[in-house]
Amino acid sequence: MRFEISKVLDAIEGRVSTDPSLARAVVDLAEVIRYQDLDGGRPASLLRLGMVIDALARELEEDSIPVYAVVHRALLSDADLTSNERMVVRRWADDGLVEVLDNPGDRMLEVADLLGLPVLTRVRADGLRGRYPWLVEQAGRVLAPVPGAGGPVFIAHVGGGHTPVAGDRSPAGVKLLSRQWRCAEPGCALFGGGGGGGAFADLSRVVERSPAGQPPPTLRGGAPTCPRHGTRLGDGGPRPRSAVLAVRVGGLIRRRFVLTEDQPAVVGRAPDQAGGIVLGQWLNDEARRWISRSHVRFELRVGEVIVTDVSTNGSGIRPGGSMAEADRVPLAPQQSRVLAEGDMVELYPGVQIGRPDELPAGAPYTPTSVMAEAPTMAMRLPR
Ligand SMILES: [Zn+2]
Repeated sequence: MRFEISKVLDAIEGRVSTDPSLARAVVDLAEVIRYQDLDGGRPASLLRLGMVIDALARELEEDSIPVYAVVHRALLSDADLTSNERMVVRRWADDGLVEVLDNPGDRMLEVADLLGLPVLTRVRADGLRGRYPWLVEQAGRVLAPVPGAGGPVFIAHVGGGHTPVAGDRSPAGVKLLSRQWRCAEPGCALFGGGGGGGAFADLSRVVERSPAGQPPPTLRGGAPTCPRHGTRLGDGGPRPRSAVLAVRVGGLIRRRFVLTEDQPAVVGRAPDQAGGIVLGQWLNDEARRWISRSHVRFELRVGEVIVTDVSTNGSGIRPGGSMAEADRVPLAPQQSRVLAEGDMVELYPGVQIGRPDELPAGAPYTPTSVMAEAPTMAMRLPR
């Protein structure tokens, strides 16, 4: 049982991120874990975060959707959580996967405004208005996760509807995210040079945080400030370029990943490289036989995405996303090519990689649940 729960928590860990390129909604962790009506269980449970993340994946019809979680510091010692859950949240905090704050205030709304993300909360609209009235009034930007027949569903606070809607980054967000920031506090997990430096620093793997994935600073008196430490942030120069790519298998986006000039990405059945994108779990036997452990490598060079085939069997390019066989351009082993706007790389029929906005979703589908390993039937969501 214990082992299974920790597997679920590991799965949830892959779906919390403060990376502005990957996070798709903002939540207040202290609030979500107390949605007791979702499962009728303990007063607080970290598994409820997984249930809300699953609900978001179902609404957006995409797998592996991370949320940006704001965490009140008191949660790190909340006696309603199990000691294992508290340890997991502390690890997320040390790794900068979540944002820990002494007093979250309206930070959840600030993040949503800066990044153009929807907010998942039950706090009533009048309680939220504050500094961000426009956010609350936009249809689909603020939704409440409530119990539904097959797990949580969302109810919009304003304008009805149940699908969370993303907006544009605010002008302040665009400005803040064009720079990289440094926190003077040693070992800052959000704006440090990398590595946690927290209580578990000696135990945890050292997470090299790329400045391209830094969260948005908070603005205090107009000055970029570390939300964790309340200190003014130093300007570390232009933020490195990045590009987001997505893997589509069987017509559906299974995960997104970020390329920077320092961090290429290898995609394959089971790449050995650190940070490699593993496709194995989504492939049938034929695809698994065809696709190499490491199949294609993506690099970002001067803003261009370069794809290199590193496989045994080769790949193909579908220029402009065309599915016509006549348009398919072979990419032989060891061959490289610039991925132009709209181009998709095809590793095997139905297994494609491209820019997410250019990979439209296919048939209706049920995303893989992060809760699939949950120990009780009550926690298990329909698949
Ligand atoms: Zn800091």
